[in-house]
Amino acid sequence: MMDQSLRTKKWVSPLLLAGGGLLLLAAAAARRLSANAREIALLNPMARARFRELVRRIEQELGWTVVITSGYRTPSDQEILRAQGQTSTKAMRSSHNFGMGIDIVCYRHGRKLGKASSKRAWLESGIPQLAKGMGFRWGGDFTREPDRVHFDWQWGPQVVKRWQDSAKAQFGEDWMMNGNRVKM
Ligand SMILES: [Zn+2]
Repeated sequence: MMDQSLRTKKWVSPLLLAGGGLLLLAAAAARRLSANAREIALLNPMARARFRELVRRIEQELGWTVVITSGYRTPSDQEILRAQGQTSTKAMRSSHNFGMGIDIVCYRHGRKLGKASSKRAWLESGIPQLAKGMGFRWGGDFTREPDRVHFDWQWGPQVVKRWQDSAKAQFGEDWMMNGNRVKM
């Protein structure tokens, strides 16, 4: 007669492995969610819910996993990126400095959509169309320096000065450090 404990043992380790694997997957999902949630929490309160909804709809309706790679940037964050040649936009002129823009990278079925992906690949994903339908501006449409990972809300060259003036009026000397709290 077979020892009952041996028979049980045969099943225990695969089950533990499967259980452990699921836990790891759940932990990875939670980390990703909390990283996106942390980025969204730093955005301007005027736009937070809209960005949260954008990410939710890309994931649920289009099936892409979204990772926010850049959200709110302080003036020094902006100048560091400029020094690295990653942007030509000066501090307090970017939607990121007011918490009104995000950069995203998206994954689906082993594919990645990022900075190096073509405009066509982005358009085939349906993401820019969905975002623009919600009122966002897509960096892939920029004529000077297209930036396909970039999405912002109610932004444009014509509004930058209004944002800066509002920031100065609300925060005085600290206006540069409070871009993501400015109300318009
Ligand atoms: Zn951006």
